[in-house]
Amino acid sequence: MFANEQRIKKHIENLSQFTKTPGAGVTRLTYSEEDLQARNYIKDKMIAYGLTVTEDGFGNIFGKLDGVYSGAPSVLVGSHFDSVPNGGAYDGTAGVVVGLEVAALFQEHQITPTYPLEVIALIEEEGTRYGGGLMGSRGMTGLFSREEFESFTDANGQLATDAMKEIGLDPSKVQYRDPETIKAFLELHIEQGPILEDKAIPIGIVESIVGLAQLEVTVKGRAGHAGTTPMNQRKDALVSAAKIIATLPEIAVLESEDTVITTGRLQVFPNGANVIPDQVVFTIDIRSTDEKHLFQAIEEVKALIETKNENGITTFVEQNLYIEPKALNKEIRSIFKQKSEELGIPHCSIHSGAGHDAMVFADVTASGMLFVPSLNGLSHCPEEYSDAGDLAKGANILFEAIKQLTESKIM
Ligand SMILES: [Zn+2]
Repeated sequence: MFANEQRIKKHIENLSQFTKTPGAGVTRLTYSEEDLQARNYIKDKMIAYGLTVTEDGFGNIFGKLDGVYSGAPSVLVGSHFDSVPNGGAYDGTAGVVVGLEVAALFQEHQITPTYPLEVIALIEEEGTRYGGGLMGSRGMTGLFSREEFESFTDANGQLATDAMKEIGLDPSKVQYRDPETIKAFLELHIEQGPILEDKAIPIGIVESIVGLAQLEVTVKGRAGHAGTTPMNQRKDALVSAAKIIATLPEIAVLESEDTVITTGRLQVFPNGANVIPDQVVFTIDIRSTDEKHLFQAIEEVKALIETKNENGITTFVEQNLYIEPKALNKEIRSIFKQKSEELGIPHCSIHSGAGHDAMVFADVTASGMLFVPSLNGLSHCPEEYSDAGDLAKGANILFEAIKQLTESKIM
């Protein structure tokens, strides 16, 4: 008996109905009416598949299948169920649905695990309502305190705790989850990029989640009239900035295959058609899955910017953000690989260019992630689509991996 593709499809379709923007993608903000509808659906299915449902003081949902050892740590499987505005039906939801499918398979096979299995549906991964993102996983692993949480407000100034109460959630419940009670965390997610589709491979075993640095660069020159200033007397800040930006792809490519560098925001001053720009401010986003490459790329970018510090042009660099790359658990990766091979499912290793709850759990427990292809590499839009057959393949691999992890005493 294998994962039921139709059941997976149905759950995805049903959950996609819980949106603030029908006909224009899924808009499901944390603690909204749509959150409540999706939450009730997920809890109903958990109960139907024989799980005991609880919610923590953030509204994260847990469906537990008790193990033979009472009090033994659980193997967690799931993802988040919030969305970005006008997002798709698969980001996060796919991982929750596949978690439910694993529970359905445990029930159909009448398996009582040695260690407990918990299907988990996390809140506010996208950060749409409260900013920052990964709130459910960061909260339960203790990365912010109850006091801090009690001060969180949305764009309308409403407290998160009040929004919780409006949909019947209780913020006074336990929030912190002792990592000792978690044996592993497994998450299936859509790739949100084109690599698996290009390779025509249904499963990506995520090796690591990228680290990133964000720089803000200011280039200063001297303003002048676009018609009367001879070319050899100009101190054009935009020309210097353009030379820097145009060289970034080369630095990325030379550094390593998984290093990417992007300038996504640029401001030109005074920004007049007939004025030589005297100042340009732009961002540089540098990502790599290998910290050594990330460091080197940052250093090379800074060195490049330094070379433009000449002939009346001055440059300044500020590093605003640094997040280290997270390698996912090696043993779990090899279990995923072994199970894929036993099931005859083509797979490859892949890096994640986006952040996920699994990177938060990676600091406290053995964490693993599977990716399935995204049609045309699209995500965070109504067109987001992943094949239910691929999701079923992911569910089968997770089912086999979780059977092993909930039985074995290693790890
Ligand atoms: Zn997601």
